[in-house]
Amino acid sequence: MKPPPLSYHAPEDAAEAVGLLAELGDEAKVIAGGQSLVPMLALRLAVFGHLVDLRRVDGVRGIERRDGRVWIGAATTQAEVGRSETVAADVPLLARATPLIGHFQIRNRGTLGGSIAHADAAAEYPAVALALDAELETLSPRGTRTLPAAEFFTGMWSTLLEEDELLTGVTFPVRGPRSGFAVEEFARRSGDFAIAGAAVAVELDGAGRIARCRIGLFGLGPTPRRATAAEAELTGRDAAGRTPEEVAEAALAEVASVPADLHASADYRRHIGRVMVARAWKRAVKEASDV
Ligand SMILES: Cc1cc2nc3c(=O)[nH]c(=O)nc-3n(C[C@H](O)[C@H](O)[C@H](O)COP(=O)(O)OP(=O)(O)OC[C@H]3O[C@@H](n4cnc5c(N)ncnc54)[C@H](O)[C@@H]3O)c2cc1C
Repeated sequence: MKPPPLSYHAPEDAAEAVGLLAELGDEAKVIAGGQSLVPMLALRLAVFGHLVDLRRVDGVRGIERRDGRVWIGAATTQAEVGRSETVAADVPLLARATPLIGHFQIRNRGTLGGSIAHADAAAEYPAVALALDAELETLSPRGTRTLPAAEFFTGMWSTLLEEDELLTGVTFPVRGPRSGFAVEEFARRSGDFAIAGAAVAVELDGAGRIARCRIGLFGLGPTPRRATAAEAELTGRDAAGRTPEEVAEAALAEVASVPADLHASADYRRHIGRVMVARAWKRAVKEASDV
């Protein structure tokens, strides 16, 4: 199927882009890489009269060290994130998650911000943003906002972004000493969305206790989410004090309901989720302990 007729807008800066979004209201939609939006338009799952393209917009692309964090422009492609030496060195979880997204062709067009704004519950980047306590920078006609990832994902494919608000950049904390990261997922075929997955970030103190940990879950509910009760229970404990299986059990116990679909029953998906958390936890703790 083909998309309905559309008007195309190519603003040159972010202020012009949000001006267009405000002026055109719910008739307009931002397009970044188009890797989620174009299929939705073609299938008529979304109908908009106007597309506001981010491709030429200044200041929403690039990867930089800023104020002790790594800033990545929202319109930076997933392929650029995957090639970045800064990301590989300073935000290794993001680097490790990138090759798991679709195929090379998709990552070449798809953007970091598009993935986070689209907020698919089975996508890798939203769960990574949660596991890393990322901060999301936005611009609207009312000004700029900085939103913690922990509050950003509000429901199925929905976020705190207003209709006329642009995600302009995402900042990630730089890896600290004695930290470890891992992302694990199970998909039916390479390049498919995961049936379930987990992104884990762990930081140990000098005595080998867990100073901070985050467990991001994807494919396991209507939104990407964190296992916050399990994280709180683990913090301050000896890293060897809980087996990876116990951690996984605790993480999945706080997921009230797991979706069932053509690819996996709820029980099977829950089982896969447990296995992915256990694997990611084990690898992240090992990396943190080896540093
Ligand atoms: C075959 C296939 C397989 C895929 N597999 C995976 C996978 O395994 N894992 C995965 O995570 N993704 C997967 N994707 C999706 C892909 O990664 C998309 O690139 C991504 O979800 C959306 O990014 P985009 O830049 O293409 O956004 P678009 O499709 O352009 O936009 C998506 C949504 O986000 C909004 N948006 C985009 N940028 C902004 C912004 N800066 N501010 C505000 N709103 C914005 C748009 O308005 C739209 O609602 C797959 C896609 C395909 C076609």
